Amino acid sequence: MKIRLMGTGGADGVPAFYSDSRVSVYARKHGGKDIRSRSAALVDDSIKIDLGPDSWMQIVRDGLDARDWTALMFTHSDADHFAPDELMYALYPFNDCEFVGFVIYANMAICRRILDKFPDWPFEMHTTKSFETFKHAGYDILPVRAHHLESEDAHNYVISDGDRKLLYGTDTGIWDQPTWEALQDHKLDCLILECSEGFASTNYDGHLDANEFMSVIERLNKQGSIHAGTQIWTTHHSHQGEATHDELLKFFTPHGINVGYDGVVIEF
Ligand SMILES: [Zn+2]
Repeated sequence: MKIRLMGTGGADGVPAFYSDSRVSVYARKHGGKDIRSRSAALVDDSIKIDLGPDSWMQIVRDGLDARDWTALMFTHSDADHFAPDELMYALYPFNDCEFVGFVIYANMAICRRILDKFPDWPFEMHTTKSFETFKHAGYDILPVRAHHLESEDAHNYVISDGDRKLLYGTDTGIWDQPTWEALQDHKLDCLILECSEGFASTNYDGHLDANEFMSVIERLNKQGSIHAGTQIWTTHHSHQGEATHDELLKFFTPHGINVGYDGVVIEF
């Protein structure tokens, strides 16, 4: 399997839309891996995870074609992950398509918002619930509950092609017990996990800082969900985390953890 990290930034990107934070200023000056667009990913060139406000730029930057997607799965409805207006460009009159070639999988809150916005549009949509596995094109997909939003069933996703297994977790926070238990049954070949707060921890418990990230890794290790061969990558970095790409490398590399960046393709 492979996963492309199309964006690895937090809600307002890096450099942020309107900020003179140290990390934003550094990113404007140095560019490269310090430029982080809003988080999204693509699995095996066909399963798109989240459709945020930077989607058009990410597709063009990486030379991709949205018509290759068979599924569009959403994690939750925060604006950096869910930009529903973009969906209309998949259909007539913006092209000749009367149907889109991808199925939408999303929690109830997102399905409702899409239906409210496009009541007559021919999207095939399936409502997802945490801890209920669904099948798509030969993949088993298990949404697990993120500790991120009270108001809706925010997901992280375990995706398996029957041979290899991936967990994609942006906006996780420290999981509640049911998620830890659900993950107990899974041995991961690849783990993509948020590190939004970097080295600047806040009181908000819906995101991880670098130390919390390490505590999640330790617990996953202890319960056997990850092992020495699991590839681990960070994502969803905020400009407020006081962490440039190089500073993140310095912290994570000695632990055998990779620091994610926009456009990286991870094979496992
Ligand atoms: Zn986010």
